[in-house]
Amino acid sequence: MQGTFQYWSAYLPIIVILVTPTVVATWFALQLHRERVIRRRDGADYLTGLPTRRAASTMAAQAMLDAQRNGRELALIVLNVDRLKPINDSLGHQAGDELLLALADRLRGMLGNANVLARLAGDEFTIIARNLRGARDAEDLVKRITEAVRQPFVIASFDLQTSLTIGVSMYPLDGDTFDLLLRRAEMALRCAKSASRGSYRFYALEMSSAADERLSLENDLRRALELNQLELHYQPKVDIGTSRIRSAEALLRWRHPTRGLVPPNVFIPIAEETGLIVPIGEWVLRDACRQVRAWIDSGMSPIRIAVNLSARQFRHVDLVSVVRSAIDEAGLQPGYVELELTESAIMDDAEKSAATLGILSTMGVHISIDDFGTGYSSLSYLRRFPLDKLKIDRSFVRDLMSNPDDASIVKAIISLAHNLRLRVVAEGVETAEQLNFLRELGCDQYQGYFCSPALPPPAFEALLQKMRAERPELTEADMLRTQSRLSAFSPEVTNPEISN
Ligand code: C2E
Ligand code: MG
Ligand code: MG
Repeated sequence: MQGTFQYWSAYLPIIVILVTPTVVATWFALQLHRERVIRRRDGADYLTGLPTRRAASTMAAQAMLDAQRNGRELALIVLNVDRLKPINDSLGHQAGDELLLALADRLRGMLGNANVLARLAGDEFTIIARNLRGARDAEDLVKRITEAVRQPFVIASFDLQTSLTIGVSMYPLDGDTFDLLLRRAEMALRCAKSASRGSYRFYALEMSSAADERLSLENDLRRALELNQLELHYQPKVDIGTSRIRSAEALLRWRHPTRGLVPPNVFIPIAEETGLIVPIGEWVLRDACRQVRAWIDSGMSPIRIAVNLSARQFRHVDLVSVVRSAIDEAGLQPGYVELELTESAIMDDAEKSAATLGILSTMGVHISIDDFGTGYSSLSYLRRFPLDKLKIDRSFVRDLMSNPDDASIVKAIISLAHNLRLRVVAEGVETAEQLNFLRELGCDQYQGYFCSPALPPPAFEALLQKMRAERPELTEADMLRTQSRLSAFSPEVTNPEISN
């Protein structure tokens, strides 16, 4: 027994050295947890120690009574911290937390004791601003808040620049309960967000009718899939050198029973926000693949189909298997499918994007960057991702002939893409002059009303047949010239008609 004790006591210092850090870390974690529990119990936010939404509600009720008594007004200001997600993603959640703490400190310092600062959710704060003479005072305060966050925050030895997007409602004008004021300030915040990050809006009555309208669209959209109200139209992508249709973009349409054809710019953002884009996007993929299969079966020369993926859909865990099963179910080669993504969708989580795009492109699916030139300013990502095409945004093509700056941008994009061995598609070509100019610049393909708008399948088939009847067959040289840099085509897909 004593021998055993002597044996182990020789190891005691080593055991102590090994175990101490774990014990200390556990102790700190327990302290932190305890502190958070206490803060929450006291109505304080666990991270910043600020009042929570519930505590703010009680304080607002008292502030409204005071305002009534003193004949003053009150503003409920909702602040959204812009770009918190990319900071969390790139520097880690610890840095995100430190930024929120530093921001809360700075705001608390400038607001003083008269006004209440509370935290509503992850990146959302609210201020109950008291003792105001009217909206003008509230606007002055909002401008001072915006100014206060303009100075960068030093976090983890980085200078982090952020901004606040702000929505404001006023008591008594916009409501007489905390809940109503908050709802209306949040409506104003949504309007500010859709205008631009870092801006502010005061609640206005029209926002409520816009919100009602949105809610009604949202409810209808929830049932659109099961009621078969969605359909795909196809817009040709034309090879500038041969004037032949090489592929088509599937563009979603919603045939609403009373509103008629609702454009995607109206309902895709709602589908994105509500998460409905995931089942809708899956339907789009399957329907586009089914359509290609039907065209092949009917004896039409095959063409590649481009499908738009929105950011949320791209981040969804199941994307790769959904793409794979849509392709398999239709019995297609993956080379028939092209996915269009915007720069911001890809850059949202660059690591994950690289992995997802890697799998898709190894499968043989083509990848395009949509609306190129309007999003992210860093170009280094073009090297990192397995891309096939850049689609020059319509806004640069529109004034191509009249605005030398746009012409220079288009020229630069074409040369950049070709140097990186990517093909270039110009979007929104409407005139012969634009097309000739793009041809001179060496652009590979175009899309636009000059050839055709997006058409329902039967009209698209008729257009395809008409154009093919007018154009000579492609030569092998054409095929080699337009071969994708990535495509390891199988025999079915080496058909010249769909080689990019
Ligand atoms: P996008 O992917 O950039 O699609 C091109 C848009 O430009 C289409 O609008 C097309 O009809 C329009 N367009 C094409 N040529 C011309 C032209 O010569 N002049 C003008 N003025 N416009 C032209 P559309 O169909 O309204 O689609 C708008 C956006 O909605 C698309 O932009 C895409 O971002 C999104 N979208 C459409 N279908 C889907 C879908 O199935 N899934 C997702 N996630 N987004 C989609
Ligand atoms: Mg597109
Ligand atoms: Mg586009």
